[in-house]
Amino acid sequence: MNLKRILKDQFGYKKFRDNQEDIIKAVLDGRDVFAAMPTGGGKSICYQLPSIVFDGLSIVVSPLVALMKDQVDEAVENGLNAAFINSSLSPAEAQAVYSDLFKGRIKLLYLSPERLSLDGYYEKLRDLPVKFFAVDEAHCLSEWGHDFRPDYLNLSRIKKYFPDVPVAAFTATATIQVQNDIINLLKLVDPYTVRASFNRPELFYRVEQKNGALDQITAFIRDHGGQAGIVYRTSRKDVEKTADYLVSKGIKARAYHAGLPQKDRQKCQDAFNRDKIDVICATIAFGMGINKMNVRFVVHGDLPRSMEGYYQETGRAGRDGAEAHCLLLYSGGDMMKIQYHINNMHDGIEKKKAEANLRRMSSFASVNVCRRKQLLEYFDEPADEHCGFCDICTDKIEKINASVDAQKVMSAVVRTGERFGIVHVIDVVCGADTEKIRKFGHEKLKTYGAGSDKPKSWWRSIVDDLIRQDAVYQDAESYNAVKLNPKGREILYGREPFYILKKEVVTVKTASKSLAGLGAANYDEALYAILREYRNSLAADKNIPSYIIFSDRSLKDMCIIKPVDNSSFLRVHGVGEKKLSEYGPLFIPKIREYLGY
Ligand code: ADP
Ligand code: ZN
Repeated sequence: MNLKRILKDQFGYKKFRDNQEDIIKAVLDGRDVFAAMPTGGGKSICYQLPSIVFDGLSIVVSPLVALMKDQVDEAVENGLNAAFINSSLSPAEAQAVYSDLFKGRIKLLYLSPERLSLDGYYEKLRDLPVKFFAVDEAHCLSEWGHDFRPDYLNLSRIKKYFPDVPVAAFTATATIQVQNDIINLLKLVDPYTVRASFNRPELFYRVEQKNGALDQITAFIRDHGGQAGIVYRTSRKDVEKTADYLVSKGIKARAYHAGLPQKDRQKCQDAFNRDKIDVICATIAFGMGINKMNVRFVVHGDLPRSMEGYYQETGRAGRDGAEAHCLLLYSGGDMMKIQYHINNMHDGIEKKKAEANLRRMSSFASVNVCRRKQLLEYFDEPADEHCGFCDICTDKIEKINASVDAQKVMSAVVRTGERFGIVHVIDVVCGADTEKIRKFGHEKLKTYGAGSDKPKSWWRSIVDDLIRQDAVYQDAESYNAVKLNPKGREILYGREPFYILKKEVVTVKTASKSLAGLGAANYDEALYAILREYRNSLAADKNIPSYIIFSDRSLKDMCIIKPVDNSSFLRVHGVGEKKLSEYGPLFIPKIREYLGY
């Protein structure tokens, strides 16, 4: 069987990506599969293509109810006989799908895990010629994943009811722990296992000290004028505040969080997917349902809870393989907030996990080690010392001896009895005139005003660094009072130096090497503008996201090849037989007209 032929005819692609062909062959051989591939790695084809070959029904279990319709629309646009069943369908609509299913008209069915939890659902499915199960976002099975769904545990019954049907699990979560959970819970038998590289060479990672988050975010977005991006904030309040602020600065932004009615959330997501707004400010409730390929930046306004979460969220940028930028704002205050939540947790195991996650995350943000190296090592993947495409690798870094300033801060801490929080300590150092200072007579201390020559923000960053380097800590048991660790005493008494790193930002102009493959170098921009506009209006008429018709990349390819007949149109990236017959007659005349035929 010629799999490459199917790839071109149905999906319009010339070559398989890494691992796709091997996975597909394993499935067609009837073997179970476990595949960990990063977002954008091309998992969909690994189950869509076999569904074409199998003489019967393939079932995809996916938790992304909000996305199913788009995924099915996209598959149908490629000529697949696909349908979905989930809670968004009315009983009559669901009935129509069942009737098509029993008539054998559907080869690829997207199903929500809730359905499979219904009594008797597996029995019902056994009346259909099921040939293959794909479990998408399979990390939802694992309590170690970041998106555990109790409904997913039900999937362990697939093998009971369909012992001879191959089951393929796909996830973008790569830790070994999650992998083991998935294989065990799904009871996969000797699965063909793929662990693709989790490197995303198109993503540039940057971490900045948080210092007026709203303005930092605004400046960053301005640098990416008019491009699509996501700003993550931890709290709903901050999400709304950020969205309002951006709008007041003339940026097309909108808020998204779980506190909004489902209808508003859907609207917001649609507006983003259809390029009607540029920026979504969101809690992490937003994301798994993002199928937008041209997200050009992701900002974390607050420290994420785990490396896993950070990787997944940043991974939503650059899915088309073109350069995208990730910015993380980091402060000691964020660490404290998370620590505070952790202290209030009751479940000991959960608490330990959360603590380990926090330590890992704050070390990622604060140590002077290539960000990509740290991320890949988190996924047990070897990496080069320097990637050349993150702030650590590109910025000029200067090491400053800040021992004296550190001593000033810690002396204030000790002289006030290690009983006060950061704000008060800094007030003492700066010589502020506050009621609290007068109440405790702290204006009489020797260190009072010792640092009045520098701004408060400077002292705040010294405290943050002292915390990061374990010289001092905030004691949650006594109202976050700042206290010294042994290392702090060494610095205070001059037995150990204290260094901070100062980064000078160097703007990266050159794209990473991965972008060479995009083939978008010399495309005709005027034609591109015409075709893009045309595609968007078609999409609006059909009420589907524009990428379902053609991705930006396909359009760019069209503006390089400039096809004026069917055979050259077929050479365009992403054009298969179905797209040729549906869109060739629409796009070819536009191109001919442009070329003056
Ligand atoms: P994932 O589900 O792993 O995040 P997708 O399946 O959505 O990734 O694929 C990401 C993008 O890559 C899609 O636009 C898809 O059409 C495209 N793609 C997948 N396989 C190939 C291929 N072999 N050649 C070119 N593009 C591909
Ligand atoms: Zn690097």
